[in-house]
Amino acid sequence: MSAERSFKKEVEALRLGAGEVFHGEGIVAVTKALLQSGVAYVGGYPGSPVSHLVDVLVDAEPLMEELGIHVETCANEAAAAAMLGASLNYPLRGAVSWKSIVGTNVAADALSNLASPGVQGGALIVVGEDYGEGASVIQERTHAVAMKSGLWLLDPRPELPRIVELVERGFELSEASHTPVMMQLRARACHVQGRFIAKDNVPPPVSTRNRLAEPARFDYGRLAHPPVSFVQERLKVAERLPAAQRFIQAHGLNEVFPGDVREVGIILQGGLHNTLARRLQALGLADAFGAGRIPQLVLNVVHPLVPEQIAEFCRDKRDVLVLEEGNPEYIELQVHGILRKADLGTRVHGKGLVPHAGEYTAAVLQQGLAAFLQATRPMGVGLAPVREAEAHAAEVQQAAAAALPAALPARPPQFCTGCPERPVFSAMKILERELGKVHIAADIGCHAFATFEPFSMGNSILGYGMSLASAAAVAPFQQRRSISVMGDGGFWHNGLTTGVIGTLLNQGDSVLVIMQNGYTSATGQQLIPSSAVGRRGQAPGMEIEATLRTLGVPWLRRVRSYSVAALVDTLREALTTTQGGLKVIIADGECQLARQRRLRGEVAQRLERGRRVATPRFGVDDEVCTGDHSCIRLSGCPSLTIKPNPDPLRSDPVATVDPSCVGCGLCGEVAHAAALCPAFYQAERVRNAGALERTLHGLRAATLRWLGAGAGQAA
Ligand code: SF4
Ligand code: SF4
Repeated sequence: MSAERSFKKEVEALRLGAGEVFHGEGIVAVTKALLQSGVAYVGGYPGSPVSHLVDVLVDAEPLMEELGIHVETCANEAAAAAMLGASLNYPLRGAVSWKSIVGTNVAADALSNLASPGVQGGALIVVGEDYGEGASVIQERTHAVAMKSGLWLLDPRPELPRIVELVERGFELSEASHTPVMMQLRARACHVQGRFIAKDNVPPPVSTRNRLAEPARFDYGRLAHPPVSFVQERLKVAERLPAAQRFIQAHGLNEVFPGDVREVGIILQGGLHNTLARRLQALGLADAFGAGRIPQLVLNVVHPLVPEQIAEFCRDKRDVLVLEEGNPEYIELQVHGILRKADLGTRVHGKGLVPHAGEYTAAVLQQGLAAFLQATRPMGVGLAPVREAEAHAAEVQQAAAAALPAALPARPPQFCTGCPERPVFSAMKILERELGKVHIAADIGCHAFATFEPFSMGNSILGYGMSLASAAAVAPFQQRRSISVMGDGGFWHNGLTTGVIGTLLNQGDSVLVIMQNGYTSATGQQLIPSSAVGRRGQAPGMEIEATLRTLGVPWLRRVRSYSVAALVDTLREALTTTQGGLKVIIADGECQLARQRRLRGEVAQRLERGRRVATPRFGVDDEVCTGDHSCIRLSGCPSLTIKPNPDPLRSDPVATVDPSCVGCGLCGEVAHAAALCPAFYQAERVRNAGALERTLHGLRAATLRWLGAGAGQAA
């Protein structure tokens, strides 16, 4: 599925049998655990940090066929969630995967309708909890969705054997309580390295190789539909919840780590355990293996909680600290309620000692722990070492900051060198000087990098594929037409229906620019319906242009994305034409990152066979460059930078192209389209040149030397 990388090693790991040792990262361990659990079908939509789950399974197609497992690359998260309908009527175990919270929002309708009737076969939803440092989406938590829909939520302690066990137990929990189970994996859990002892893969009893003779009998009770939905609501709380709590207790899904400091304890989300263990060690309260002095209740299941377990843990404790990232503090509030109902006087600490929002990084947790210990002063815990550790941490931080020559400049993410989406924003910027600013509805995808310097474009981002829909009520109030920007991934995910069809239906008059780069590039270049190649090597055969023509889009243009002058002309026409209705520009250019990865192999092969390879290179003539750097402001290419002016009579640095240039030609195009300066030149680096080419090169070089010598003599 992914053009990003080969998963050969991971695919081999999926074949490991009983007793063999799996080495690798968390998300691949989850994938192997699915096969060990007898999963019958898997689906998903790509997104960090869980993309590899479906990517690896797609690359493992022969193994999937052997085991009779169906693997689906879904059109969006809603489609993936709806796949779990197979577990509603049939005793099939299924797993789906996506990035949360955004993907969970897209899937929410299907999830609610699945959770209401409940499932027969185990249903596991593996979500990449993209929260905290390095997150690429809005900061919300999946916990809220689990609570409101009555789905169980696992948050495993990031250690491979535990993660694998929880995948297997997750299916059992789902079946024992007839409830879909979510497993949230933070980026660190997905990429944690480790090992576990593998088991044999288990072919599902019902599979693509062993099909059911008859469909399920009609059962009104399995539909999420009134009046039976009222019964289902009651079943959720009266039967499924207690069944889940019994299962969690009976099978030890949550873990208690004892400690000799009896009067205090910590209740934490399982995903925070590794960071906490290291911070306790830093405070002198744990060894390097995580064995600590303060008792911990590690919640590998964060919803539902088991009241008896919480009460039991707190019974002999004066104070407990609840460590729960994000807000609202669902766990902490429930712990308060549980303890009051159990008539226990244990004091509950949490938000306030630790921040109300944001990731609980090592530094945050250490400060929170120190504050907790200082507030509760447990017997046998010397506060002096805690204060020393705090002071040491502050010193280390100050020393690290002092070691830097100056404050580091902000380094916002940006387009790759040679990205085909950059020229579109260069064209918009050039046109802005002529027509003035227009409202720009941005979207999710690489093109969102245009919200950073030097473009700073985009008035809103309302979700993946939602740009055109988000401009629907903007356009009627603007004198100038608005522009919505969408990627081809966003188009197929959602934009086609919510944006294009919605605008056509309402005869909206605005401009849509679709970046057709051939992949869902931002998540690792997974293939999409309009990719040149699809699964099993054949083209999926769906085209954006043909689809739009079928829908009757009244104004449609396709432009090569590097042709800045043509883009400027086309955008101008779209913004100023008297023709009403939707105007779509398809900016066509393959993702440069994918292209370079593809070319690298092709070039290596040609060189190996002694074939000619010509690579374009761009440069700036120092003598012509005026040093005003407008080319940099209009392109933003990271390869286009500045260097000292070689002319001793001029002080302004000149523009220069560094060796990372991929020769996309944008800088020259921009200079031409914006009528800047003629300083840009294109050259070709030729390897394995032919005899004629070498001779011509020799003649040219000799002529230049002769001209140079003549000029020198004249001087
Ligand atoms: S991954 Fe592709 S589309 Fe995304 S910024 Fe890089 S070159 Fe552009
Ligand atoms: S040709 Fe210009 S814009 Fe393209 S990669 Fe090279 S320096 Fe950057």
